[in-house]
Amino acid sequence: MKVVFCSSEVFPFAKTGGLADVSGALPFALADKNCKVKVFMPLYKGISPQKVNDDFGITKINSNIEIIFIKNDSYFMRGSLYGTSAGDYPDNLERFSFYSQKVIEITKKMNFRPDIVHCNDWQASGVIIYLKTKYKDDSFFANSKTVLTVHNLAYQGLFDKDKFPVLGISWDYFSVPYLEYYGKINLLKGGIVFSDMVNTVSPTYARQVQDKEYGCGLDGVLKEKGSRLTGILNAIDYKVWNPSKDRFIYKRYSSAALDGKYVNKSRFQKEHGLTVKKGNFLIGMVSRLAEQKGIDILSKVLNSVLGKYQVVILGTGDEKYHKILKRKARKYRDSFSLHLKFDEGLAHRIYAGCDAFLMPSRFEPCGLSQMISYKYATVPIVNHTGGLVDTVMDYNDNGGGFVFNDYSGKALSKTIDRAYGVFCDKKRWSALLKKISKYNFSWAKTAQEYINMYKKCLSLP
Ligand code: ADP
Repeated sequence: MKVVFCSSEVFPFAKTGGLADVSGALPFALADKNCKVKVFMPLYKGISPQKVNDDFGITKINSNIEIIFIKNDSYFMRGSLYGTSAGDYPDNLERFSFYSQKVIEITKKMNFRPDIVHCNDWQASGVIIYLKTKYKDDSFFANSKTVLTVHNLAYQGLFDKDKFPVLGISWDYFSVPYLEYYGKINLLKGGIVFSDMVNTVSPTYARQVQDKEYGCGLDGVLKEKGSRLTGILNAIDYKVWNPSKDRFIYKRYSSAALDGKYVNKSRFQKEHGLTVKKGNFLIGMVSRLAEQKGIDILSKVLNSVLGKYQVVILGTGDEKYHKILKRKARKYRDSFSLHLKFDEGLAHRIYAGCDAFLMPSRFEPCGLSQMISYKYATVPIVNHTGGLVDTVMDYNDNGGGFVFNDYSGKALSKTIDRAYGVFCDKKRWSALLKKISKYNFSWAKTAQEYINMYKKCLSLP
């Protein structure tokens, strides 16, 4: 099967969140299952492809997969991927519609006739929109089907109506059945409407987005997809996330010998000015600092949590949360370690060094950190929503984490206390760590689910 895979971020070339993890793993797992895959992403600053011409760069991974980097220096050679702390880049429509058209043109130029064009999120939705509008009569794609994966419905690619001509398609498509959304252009909506199949990144989120509460205004459009909408749980790339091979952490360890974990904890505490004591409960969080991630409820109870336990947070995001967290960090110097930045190595050391990992998300399409935590024998504490429902069962139900059901600071802090209760019982805690570090969320199985979806898609009228 031939697959064009389109994503605005692909690990290790560029990453702001889970989309990059998925795009850096799924296409490779598909290639391992004998799909021929071309991955398309923008050529951002700092990426050095094996070859570059005027239009694109290319890095060949093996005979089944290559990465193609769309080149446009004025659009993509910038400090960040989508915007600065002041907001999104104002020309994001220009940037990602350019990217989308180039994907199509380069695919043709390379004479690579895809069975499946698999696009991710609003940034790549343009590829599907163009295939079903501008290129709808192009015989080159006559046998191609389109798949859209929605990693997070809260980011839709909304733009003012007066920018519509940038897309270069008929105004007929600026209408409610297509791209119009309350007077604005909505790229994700266009991708959903035009795609042959849509999937979200967990079965629970796929159900939730069809309801008003989680649908972000697109619940109706998603519901209309009927059996063309599905949920496939993300997985983890154990080549990247594996404490027995991890080059970032202080000491390597495995589920068979978890002792090394305590070295990681004490070295981390020491390096970051936290009191070094085995009995101190160290809780970590690595996250975009957005409301979605539950920072609002965490902030409310942080004083009391920091009075009892140690906390490390690594993240960037809303300035509002930066300020709140900075204030707390000044007050709780020996129990709170705060890092307002993006740092891959530090993230690994947090997963390895902490006892527990916080994901108090208000909503969570899938979430990868809980699965990463398991591998590092770090116990997730999560809100019962989206992909967290599909991956974390409560300790009391024989599961591997601690789950709360009521989105509030009080429920969160009670659940942390409950986890601490088990932590104090050495025998029960080490049995729990042993169990979770053996859980398996690998891409091989998930890639097969994608291939099955592609096959279903190819059989559709
Ligand atoms: P989302 O995609 O919504 O941000 P996920 O849980 O799906 O959330 O994926 C988050 C990924 O990004 C994980 O690999 C996490 O470790 C990583 N990450 C998030 N923030 C940072 C940061 N500040 N530094 C390093 N890695 C980060």
